Amino acid sequence: MQSVSGKHIGKSGRSMSFQSIAGKAQNKFSLSMSVQYLKGVGPAKARAFAQLGVETVGDLLEYFPRDWVFAPGAIKINQMQPNHTVTIVGLVESVDYQSFRRQPIFEAVLADDTGLCRIVWFHGGYLRNQIKPGQVIMASGKVVLYKHQLQMNNPEFLILDEKSSEPDEYFGGGIYPASAGLSSRQIKRIVRPVLDNLAELVSEFYDRDFIKKANLISRKDAFSWIHLPPDKEKLAQAKRRLKYDELFLMQLGLAFRRYRCKHFSSATPCRCSEKIDSRIRKRFPFLPTEDQNDCINEIVADMKKTEPMNRLLQGDVGSGKTVVALYAALLAVANRTQVAIMAPTEILADQHFISIERYLKNSRVKRVLITGGLTGKKRKELLRQIKNGEIDIVVGTVALLQKDVEFHKLGLVVIDEQHKFGVHQRAELRKQTTPHCLVMTATPIPRTLAMTAFGDLDVSIIKHSPPDRGTIITRWVDRQNRRKAYQFIRECLKAKKQAYFVYPRITALEGHPKYPLSHLGTQQDSVLKAATEGWKNLSTEVFSEFTVELLHGRMPSPKKRQIMDRFRKGKIDVLVSTVVIEVGLDMPNATIMVIEGADRFGLAQLHQLRGRIGRGEAKSYCFLFAETENEVAKNRLEVMTRNNDGFEIAEYDLRLRGPGELFSTRQHGLPDLKIANIIDDYELLVMARKNAFELVLQDPMLIKDEHRNIRQALLAKFGDSLGLVDVA
Ligand code: ADP
Ligand code: MG
Repeated sequence: MQSVSGKHIGKSGRSMSFQSIAGKAQNKFSLSMSVQYLKGVGPAKARAFAQLGVETVGDLLEYFPRDWVFAPGAIKINQMQPNHTVTIVGLVESVDYQSFRRQPIFEAVLADDTGLCRIVWFHGGYLRNQIKPGQVIMASGKVVLYKHQLQMNNPEFLILDEKSSEPDEYFGGGIYPASAGLSSRQIKRIVRPVLDNLAELVSEFYDRDFIKKANLISRKDAFSWIHLPPDKEKLAQAKRRLKYDELFLMQLGLAFRRYRCKHFSSATPCRCSEKIDSRIRKRFPFLPTEDQNDCINEIVADMKKTEPMNRLLQGDVGSGKTVVALYAALLAVANRTQVAIMAPTEILADQHFISIERYLKNSRVKRVLITGGLTGKKRKELLRQIKNGEIDIVVGTVALLQKDVEFHKLGLVVIDEQHKFGVHQRAELRKQTTPHCLVMTATPIPRTLAMTAFGDLDVSIIKHSPPDRGTIITRWVDRQNRRKAYQFIRECLKAKKQAYFVYPRITALEGHPKYPLSHLGTQQDSVLKAATEGWKNLSTEVFSEFTVELLHGRMPSPKKRQIMDRFRKGKIDVLVSTVVIEVGLDMPNATIMVIEGADRFGLAQLHQLRGRIGRGEAKSYCFLFAETENEVAKNRLEVMTRNNDGFEIAEYDLRLRGPGELFSTRQHGLPDLKIANIIDDYELLVMARKNAFELVLQDPMLIKDEHRNIRQALLAKFGDSLGLVDVA
């Protein structure tokens, strides 16, 4: 793989921009010019374009076709000859259905700029709903002479454009995603003249050597061929080049963000002596695993520096992240700074506080839990102590710390994100101060996403959970086997084990595919209803001899806490809940988990839920209750029964459902990818990442002349969010 070094990127870039300045004094086109000034675009069409996200000529060039049509043999209507099989393209002028004939026929008259042609489909009644006047269609079939006229019989056809008023004067090329106000054909016409001026619009990023070595075509050809490919081979080359550029700019943005974070802000360096180290380790009732030690070492190395740590700690539920985070926290405290530990929910913050308390019994480290329930004088007093630096570790939810908590000297922030990643939250905190930052996540992040959505973080991974973990046996249970499962669970409960019953949150599979998360709210009621009904059934019928309680997100916090507490103490046998318990409970005695409607959960989420059990040494059982005939759903359930490796499951899920289901890139402040796909284009992604990070090392601010075009493109893409502007 070739690096983008200064040598490689280079002179061509400079000469391009030189040309564009010197070439024409008044540029006809520029990338930032509004599309409204293009031929054929008035205010109405400009508005229609805006709705498609296209405002400038640059946007238009990146408004790529969704499909392409190749008809190498397409001829004009006046070139047709009898008894040849040919392809023509034209506008449907009129249609007619003659049902009264012995052989009913559907016919259409097709027009191009050279003439008219009658097309006939025998028994074509079914076409009445498909082919309509105003469409542009391509037809391939045999030409016959009928009543001294050439016509085409029973051709295969393809509708190229739904709505049109004139014949197509050129054929081939892209089919654009259209809208009510703009047809694909109109877009094509508007793009065409822009393509004739590519030389002044598109400037090269890399020098010739690199382009050759990376087997890329020029940027200008790429834009030309993506809109109007001469053939399939050239289209493939165009896609490859544009995908590479897109991934390269994204990686450059990440590389730059990371560089900026490391070099433009400073944190308190935390020294770790042997004495400090052994004092911290004495707090743990066990030896950290090899993986935990590796992570600790990476964190210690980070925190030693004045550059703020920005590290993601990944590990399955129960893999022992808390201990690693606590090590970091105690190291910060030993260096006379404060620590904030933040969780996405109050239950989880609670849980963190409880486990920290367990480790810190009789320690002088001052720690407090701040929850929404804490109000009035008590709260004020605590906030005062935090501000004065009398308190070392503050545990709470993310929302709370953003509001009004001020620190004396915040040295480390630990964010347990579980499922809910929030790069923005991290950014927001930064404004207040620049602490070291450790983000924990229990969702295994596939390598592709680690390189994109989280590409600006360093990553530590706990791959293997601590030993002596009970195995988890996962079974998919259909309706027939429910009773058997209940009976099995009953025996376990009699043996004083505890069980979770979880009801589905309605997943994106049922919501709008584009807004997977926004729909959770509207479905909440039905989820709650399902859980409530399930609870009634379980407590009065199935397990009437046991204590069955319901826990859900809408309960007041004290009530939730009380139920959790009773479950922890073994006073509740079966806990029925919506997914509130998704977050990190640690109950070794709970060895049974039943997930109702398991086919509606994402795999990563199922895996996460399953991680609630298997916390003790006893064998645990996860029952996936699901009735489904859907092959994909069955497949996914089987993956769960076979597989216990969170990373493999996540990778599988990503392939099956696409990255949007797991994370939205936009949510992470990255521009959405228009043409590249992080799964399919993995190799390009790796190459782009390597080259981008090397480039930033070599010319961090991209001030070298030969990097000017890249810099401009980066600015256009990210705006000034990268801080490139103020440095310039
Ligand atoms: P996570 O936060 O990754 O879900 P925790 O840190 O809560 O996992 O650890 C899960 C359980 O494993 C806890 O009960 C903890 O005490 C235990 N544990 C963690 N590390 C070890 C270890 N090295 N050896 C034995 N038990 C461990
Ligand atoms: Mg945990």
